[in-house]
Amino acid sequence: MVTADEIRAIGIFSRLDESACERLARVAADVSLVPGEYAAEEGAQRALFAVLAGRIEATRNVDGIDRVLGERLPGDIFGEVPISLGTVFPVGFRAAERTRVMRIEPQDYHAVASLAPEVAEEVGKLASHRMSGTRGLQGIAADPAPPRATVVGRRLDGACSELRRFLDRNQIHFTWLKPDEPDAAEMWGDTLPADADLPVIRVVGGKTVVRPRLRRVAELLGLETEPAAAEYDTVIVGAGPAGLAAAVYGASEGLRTIVVEREAPGGQAGTSSKIENYLGFPSGVSGDELASRALQQAVRHGAEILVTREITRIDATARQVHLDGGDVLRGRTIILACGVSWRRLAIEGFDRLVGKGISYGAARSEALNVHGLDVHIVGAGNSAGQSAMFFSTHARSVTILCRGDSLEKSMSSYLINQLKTRPNIEVLTRTQVSAAHGETALEAIDATNADTGTTTRIACGGLFIFIGADAETEWLPPEIALDSRGYVLTGPDVSASAHWELERDPYLLETSVPGIFASGDIRFSPVKRVAAAVGEGSMAIAFVHQYLREAEPAAAVASPLA
Ligand SMILES: Cc1cc2nc3c(=O)[nH]c(=O)nc-3n(C[C@H](O)[C@H](O)[C@H](O)COP(=O)(O)OP(=O)(O)OC[C@H]3O[C@@H](n4cnc5c(N)ncnc54)[C@H](O)[C@@H]3O)c2cc1C
Repeated sequence: MVTADEIRAIGIFSRLDESACERLARVAADVSLVPGEYAAEEGAQRALFAVLAGRIEATRNVDGIDRVLGERLPGDIFGEVPISLGTVFPVGFRAAERTRVMRIEPQDYHAVASLAPEVAEEVGKLASHRMSGTRGLQGIAADPAPPRATVVGRRLDGACSELRRFLDRNQIHFTWLKPDEPDAAEMWGDTLPADADLPVIRVVGGKTVVRPRLRRVAELLGLETEPAAAEYDTVIVGAGPAGLAAAVYGASEGLRTIVVEREAPGGQAGTSSKIENYLGFPSGVSGDELASRALQQAVRHGAEILVTREITRIDATARQVHLDGGDVLRGRTIILACGVSWRRLAIEGFDRLVGKGISYGAARSEALNVHGLDVHIVGAGNSAGQSAMFFSTHARSVTILCRGDSLEKSMSSYLINQLKTRPNIEVLTRTQVSAAHGETALEAIDATNADTGTTTRIACGGLFIFIGADAETEWLPPEIALDSRGYVLTGPDVSASAHWELERDPYLLETSVPGIFASGDIRFSPVKRVAAAVGEGSMAIAFVHQYLREAEPAAAVASPLA
């Protein structure tokens, strides 16, 4: 418990009278932290803290790495900015060594401040000092994170788009130089690489690699690509919302947790410019931001996350997963969170121009590619509508090409109403794309009207396709029961299918193989949503605990839910 004497030893409270110190001592929480533990994370709700013993570091997460911005020693306070301005914590505060802090809740701070206005004045002054100047928050905000890499590549080069997307989705801050920009060579600091070598990546303080494979890029940037152990309590296939949620819950509940992702974290959500219906984000959140926060959370809780590694085979009996390249991991349990893959349009010219003006989905990073252009969107669902809204603030015009009579059947009415407010968005119904044209990059598309049968060639600066997705589960072992469209059956659907052999019923998210679970879009279920994927990923961990308790009682990890 914090004593009145300890409160008086804190500079800002030194002039408080005896009764005020005692009052604060009664309400202050006495918090002991181990090294690395956070008193307040970036984004945490406001409170005022004072260091009683040890050392606190102020940190800010940049590119997934915590940068240390300053320190607080015994007698110092922190949290003065959020408490004065009513905001969340703009930076995090974590213990650099074993540390003791006291935490005062806002209502208790304000009660003391109303009796001793000089305290509020001092805290306010300190907050204003921290906000201003080159070493203050304004300085930090004005000082962008230093890039970790420089990429040279053309705008409509598929390999360059893929590389940029990969870096974005792995939260790597980088500079992109287009070879035709006048100052590109100066910024590169040397003769620009030959066209045939593009894209090129130079890692700050490291190597330059021409036409790199993503695995090589991951290695150059220190992202995990190799498993650290041979066995895990749970191996999660895929780092979309379901996989990342399972990773956060698994790792935070003491399970040795690994996620294997064949591309980069985020899954389909990472290709969504705005998710409007995820709880807690009243103005929507971009898929890459949501994924980036989830990734940080999973890593902070100790989950291992491999990128650019694909699980190619599962041995259901031995509970082994085979990674591309031959590595084999054993999972006491496995969670399939491998989502679905974009349906491809089998139309003349498409495969050749994918990445060169044609994209499946639309991440926020695509905005840079469409400034001032006329872009087209194929699809009539919410994801098509959201991306039309997004591109309408970047492109000169956005045209939605929809096969049906109207958007009403497939798009939410709030989104249809939003589209109507944008003068540069047009909807062409009963219209399909029938061909794409361009030598080295997309230049035009053919659009065919179903009523008249006429085909019109339209200049096109970018074509974004949102025509749904399919389960790609042919690589799963035959023991895992699927529905006719390849979605993984779980729980009651498994019992009903006669694939289940144990006496107990399968858990809600358990597949036909005990101990192998499925969550998110890959699971047979009518709901394909971020919230459902996150919920199921989290829930899968509860079933993992139950399974381990029952199947391997001696080795089970105590679940906080038990
Ligand atoms: C453009 C777009 C907009 C959307 N907008 C919304 C919206 O506004 N609101 C909403 O609720 N939902 C939205 N959705 C749907 C939502 O994104 C999905 O429901 C959600 O992402 C499903 O999450 P998941 O983790 O199950 O699968 P996914 O997001 O598909 O992630 C699966 C991951 O597994 C990886 N993977 C697959 N196979 C393997 C393997 N063998 N080895 C290793 N890794 C593998 C994939 O690379 C991928 O990263 C949108 C989807 C798209 C495409």
